[in-house]
Amino acid sequence: MFTSLSDRLTLTFKNLKRKGTVTESDVNATIRDIRIALLDADVALPVVKQFTGSVRERALGAEVHQALNPAQQVVKIVNEELVGILGGQTRRLQLAKNPPTVIMLAGLQGSGKTTFAGKLAHLLKGQGHTPMLVAADLQRPNAVTQLEVVGERAGVPVFAPERGNVFGHDAALESGEGTRSFGDPVDVAVDGVEEARRRGNDILIIDTAGRLAVDVELMRQAHDIRVETDADEVLFVIDAMIGQAAVETAKAFADGVGITGSVLTKLDGDARGGAALSVASVTGRPIMYASTGEGVKDVELFHPDRMASRILDMGDVLTLIEQAEQAFDQVQAREMTRKFLADEDFTFDDFLEQMAAIKRMGSLKQMLGMMPGMQGMRAQLDALDEREFDRVEAMVRSMTPFERNHPKQINGSRRARIARGSGVSPSEVNQLLERFGEAQKMMRQLKKGGGIPGMPGMPG
Ligand code: GDP
Repeated sequence: MFTSLSDRLTLTFKNLKRKGTVTESDVNATIRDIRIALLDADVALPVVKQFTGSVRERALGAEVHQALNPAQQVVKIVNEELVGILGGQTRRLQLAKNPPTVIMLAGLQGSGKTTFAGKLAHLLKGQGHTPMLVAADLQRPNAVTQLEVVGERAGVPVFAPERGNVFGHDAALESGEGTRSFGDPVDVAVDGVEEARRRGNDILIIDTAGRLAVDVELMRQAHDIRVETDADEVLFVIDAMIGQAAVETAKAFADGVGITGSVLTKLDGDARGGAALSVASVTGRPIMYASTGEGVKDVELFHPDRMASRILDMGDVLTLIEQAEQAFDQVQAREMTRKFLADEDFTFDDFLEQMAAIKRMGSLKQMLGMMPGMQGMRAQLDALDEREFDRVEAMVRSMTPFERNHPKQINGSRRARIARGSGVSPSEVNQLLERFGEAQKMMRQLKKGGGIPGMPGMPG
C-alpha cells in the first residue's frame, strides 16, 4: 500500500535534502510535488489543499529558516501534518461503563465488514473480553451464515435471528425479489443487546446490512440501529481501494448514520492511499483499525504517526517491535531488552531465536516492508526468496555454540567447515558474517540513540 505515493515523496525529499539551504522556491517546488503525489494517490482535493496550505505556511515561516538543517525540518513538518490528516492521536475503543459495550459496523457491501467483525472479536477476545457477534444483515441471503463462519473462526458466539423466521422466503429470493428484507434488523440488533446482557458478554459487535451504493433507506435503518441499541461505537468500514469515491461515501455515512470512527480494510492491496488519507479529515472522526488481509489475525490498531512514517518511508519500527513482542515469549523478550540495554552484542543464538519468532509472526516480506528505507527497495523485496532464510538458518546451525556467540572469531578454516556443514559455498558464509557484523554495528548505533545510519534523525 501507498507504494507509489511513498516513492514519490521519498524522491521529492531526496532532491530537497541535497540542498544546504532551502529557499522559498525550493519550498514551492516541494509543495508542488507533494500536491501532485497526493492527487495521484486519489486524496480528496479539499484535504490536499488543507495539507499543502499548512505545510507551506509552516515551511516558509521561521520554523525552517532558523533550523540547523532546513531540509530535514521540511520533512519533519510534512510528517507532522500527515499525522494530523490521518487523525492525530491513536484512538482506542471506548468501553461502556455498563457492559455490554455496543460496537456497530456500517459500510458499503463488500467493504469488509463481516471479515472485520471476526477480526475485532478475535482481537478483543485475546485481550480477555467476551465478545458476541450479532448478524443484523438480513439483506443478503447468506450473510448470517457468513457471520457464523467468521464467529467460529474467531471462537466467539454469534447471535442470529431464528433461521425459520428469517429465511422462510427463499422462494421469493430465487424468483428475483432478492432485495426485500427478511425480519427486522433493528429488532435483531436490540435483541442481541439483551442476549449479550443476559449471557454476560461484555462486548457486542453488530454487523449491519451492506449497501452497494449510498442508499437512503438502508442508511436510515443503520441510523435506527445505532439509536435503538444506543451504540457506544459506530465504526464506518471502508475499503482502502475505492479511491475518490471514498469521500462521498464517508460523508454520507458520517451524516446519515453518525459514526465515531473508521476502519480501513484491504490495506494489503495496492491501494493508492487516497481513502486512508481523506477519511479522517472528511468525517472528522479518527481511523481506529487497519485491516490487512483475509485472515482473522490481519488487523492492527491504527496509529496515525506510524502510518505517516510508513508513507514517508521512515519505517514503522514500533509496529515491528509490537509484532515481535507478540511472537517472542515474555522471557525471550525480557532477555532481548536486557541485552539491548546492557550494551551486549547480539549473537547468532539471538539471531536463531529471532528467525524462529519471525516465522511465527508470518511473512518475512511483510515484516521487512516495515523497515526504514525499504520502500525504495520494493523490487528487491518482491524478488526476495524466503527460502534464502532457510539457507541462512542452516549456516547458523552449522556453527558451534562458541562460534555463535563470538562471530568475530570465525576464521577461514571455521568458515570452510560451516560451509561444508550447511551445503553452501564459503563465499555465502563470508557474506553472512559480513552482514551480521553490519547489523551488529547498526544495533550499536541505534542504542547510542544515533538513529539508523542513512536515515534522517527525526526529533521527537
Ligand atoms: P462485507 O460485505 O462488508 O461484509 O464484506 P466482507 O467481509 O464479506 O468482505 C468482502 C471481501 O473482501 C471478502 O472476499 C473478504 O475476504 C475480503 N476482505 C475483507 N477484508 C480484507 C482485507 O483486509 N484484505 C483483503 N485482501 N481482503 C479482505
